[in-house]
Amino acid sequence: VSAPGVTPPGFTGGRLDRADALRRDPAGLAAAAADPAARLLVLNDGLEPEVDAGGRLVWAHVPEGAALALLGLEDGAPRFVALGAGPGGGFRSPRLMDLLARMAPGEAATWAAARSVVDWHARHRFCANCAAATEPFRAGWGRCCPACGTEHFPRTDPVVIMLAEHRGRCLLGRQPSWPAGRYSALAGFVEPAESVEEAVAREVMEEAGVAVTAVRYVASQPWPFPSQLMIACVAEAADDALVLDRTELEDAIWVDRAAVRAALEGEGPFGAPPPHAIAHTLLRVWAAGGD
Ligand SMILES: [Zn+2]
Repeated sequence: VSAPGVTPPGFTGGRLDRADALRRDPAGLAAAAADPAARLLVLNDGLEPEVDAGGRLVWAHVPEGAALALLGLEDGAPRFVALGAGPGGGFRSPRLMDLLARMAPGEAATWAAARSVVDWHARHRFCANCAAATEPFRAGWGRCCPACGTEHFPRTDPVVIMLAEHRGRCLLGRQPSWPAGRYSALAGFVEPAESVEEAVAREVMEEAGVAVTAVRYVASQPWPFPSQLMIACVAEAADDALVLDRTELEDAIWVDRAAVRAALEGEGPFGAPPPHAIAHTLLRVWAAGGD
């Protein structure tokens, strides 16, 4: 993402060294947990963080005997999160929206990793192969089944999110559950045995009845609700006739760059997605492009 004035996508730019070698080193891991410099991320039962006045995450001392995931090393100091809470709540909690708006760059990325991993443990306590109870291993970056030996790892689900463009306008849709006036890029999960380009074309056809070609990758972001990888693209539409799938979209509109720029400033004919969503980044990149 290199367009002028476009900040990096939300939940990216984390500063932790993920320290993969330490995850596989039980003695080193025990020493890290006992390190006086080690800290534990403060999360509530809904897996929301605490954020200080400077926009930084709040950390506590590491309790003895807690089940932990190693988030990584910050300037060499171990950073952990406790397992056992969750699953987390939704991403439209007013408190969380306020925290995300206040978090310093990189802090949201650290929290996103913690949230996705803790939430995954809460929802994957039993073996998908034999149904026995599983145990965390690899410093919280997996679960192992003591009955059948299967190893399970936190999943990341790819989602394509895209703007179809046609003669200087791009296609935005609206879901009924969204805040009043909000329009955003169309999106959908990538299915098994499907490329990113194929998923983009299928989703735009399914939701809006528009055929697209020339799919171009723009940027990606983690989306920790619970653990998607959002892959943002732009594609060329053959024409602008719409056939909406009303189970997916309440409405869809074609908008030009001036309308998108106004919306991103909060003065538009529609409500833009919030800055921590990659749809916002995608619209900024597109609006900065030429006509
Ligand atoms: Zn098993």
